[in-house]
Amino acid sequence: MDGAQTDSTPHGKHLIAGEWVACDTTFTSEPAHGTAYDYSIGSPELVDRACKAAEEAFWVYGYTNSIQRAVFLETIADEIEARGPRITSIGTSETGLPSARLEGERGRTTSQLRLFAEHIRKGDYLDIRHDKALPERQPLPRPELYMVQRPIGPIAVFGASNFPLAFSAAGGDTVAGLAAGCPVVVKGHSAHPGTSEIVAEAIHAAITRCDVPKGAFSLIQGGKRDVGQALVQHPLIKAVGFTGSLVGGRALFDLCARRPEPIPFFGELGSVNPMFILSQAAKARGAEIGKGWAGSLTMGAGQFCTNPGIAVVTGGPDGDAFVNAAKEALTSTGPQVMLTDGIASAYRAGKTRFDSRNAVQPLLTSADEGRSASPSLYETSAESYLQDHALGEEVFGPLGLVIRITGAEDMETLAKRFEGQLTATIHMDEGDSNQARRLLPILERKAGRLLVNGFPTGVEVADAMVHGGPYPASTNFGATSVGTLSIRRFLRPVCYQNVPADFLPMDIA
Ligand code: NAP
Repeated sequence: MDGAQTDSTPHGKHLIAGEWVACDTTFTSEPAHGTAYDYSIGSPELVDRACKAAEEAFWVYGYTNSIQRAVFLETIADEIEARGPRITSIGTSETGLPSARLEGERGRTTSQLRLFAEHIRKGDYLDIRHDKALPERQPLPRPELYMVQRPIGPIAVFGASNFPLAFSAAGGDTVAGLAAGCPVVVKGHSAHPGTSEIVAEAIHAAITRCDVPKGAFSLIQGGKRDVGQALVQHPLIKAVGFTGSLVGGRALFDLCARRPEPIPFFGELGSVNPMFILSQAAKARGAEIGKGWAGSLTMGAGQFCTNPGIAVVTGGPDGDAFVNAAKEALTSTGPQVMLTDGIASAYRAGKTRFDSRNAVQPLLTSADEGRSASPSLYETSAESYLQDHALGEEVFGPLGLVIRITGAEDMETLAKRFEGQLTATIHMDEGDSNQARRLLPILERKAGRLLVNGFPTGVEVADAMVHGGPYPASTNFGATSVGTLSIRRFLRPVCYQNVPADFLPMDIA
């Protein structure tokens, strides 16, 4: 395979439109274990170079047909697979995630590429509409109108810390952009630069094999904040895909809005993913749900955007069964390694926020050091929760807050108070139908995905998936960052009025 080098030492360069570029200044990776390496620090000059190359590439890549792009996406998947062991080796070292998780994520990443290839081959994503000409219509004739979705131009993508493959260099945002016909400039996450480097190498190889313009993909490693800031403000960038913190996402969103030409910023930010255990479900299987919740809460050390951080359950023995089972399961889950030192210390700061409140009872806490994080469990009342906005802020990690209610109406009051969420879950049995019917319309206004009798971690990459939601879950409630619908973020409708057939985009012809 072209470019599939066997030396496992990263070269630490950026990939700018087909060229590996080194810089004089470097940052050193901070792996969870194994060797640290030096990586070139990005700069606004490199951002400019990548964006100009992306714009130039758009004049060719933006006019390729869906079949050409589908083959390109499938070739990227093949090239990633060819580098599988190297990716797993450096990925586990950089992130501390176990090999099985990274292998699974690699499968998700290549399946995602192939799913998008299939999706654009089908063509219905173009949403082609045609109003025939009515020259005899009175009082005015109607012109012939065609509408089709067209790619928007170069886009910027910020790799996510918690999905070094499925949401990074060749992850969901990149795939959606390339599938749409948009060149992509990725700002690599500084938590896994070596993983991004190998994935960029795979994309580079696919570009060469498929004769795609080199500017269709660039990777700029981070190291300094001015890279991301220059990228979202570059006049040739037409949209941004981002997964990360509320603070970082909001800062970049504001920069996009302040540009002379504002552009959409598709940020997938924070969420506590509330879970409501209705009374009959709590009575019949509270312990079972509690155990399942603990499993979902600690999956991947709780570092999932869909982590169900808040559970709402009744007071009394039925609720106790849920809480006790959750506590028991969390106690038996040992400490896990967090993705970065910064995320581990943010987790500890989140725990301190809970510890400092009199109205919050700690049910399970422990002292952690370094990158290690043990599960934590807290409990409060509906009344206390409603009075303290900070209790609804996401703690990224394996921390659960149980809100105990005194009456069914507390659930509706709480549901109305939640901010926008990626997901909301109801656990219900037959006798809970009336309450569920009252709760669901409220939750539908709050979340992008509603679940019944399940747990929100494990997001299916599929046609009907919505991974988004009202702010602050995302910065754009009309969009999803997972699933085939995510391609719509990087397309815009264009109407062709009386344009002769020979001049119409090839997708229509
Ligand atoms: P982050 O700190 O927001 O960083 C994400 C990306 O944005 C990184 O590439 C970062 O650059 C860049 N960035 C952040 N703030 C910036 C700014 N002001 N200007 C320019 N670039 C900026 O998120 P993270 O490192 O992935 O994780 C930290 C927190 O994000 C977690 O504690 C969690 O709360 C949240 N998170 C949420 C999700 C989700 O799916 N909702 C997923 C992962 C993380 P650098 O590489 O230089 O830092």
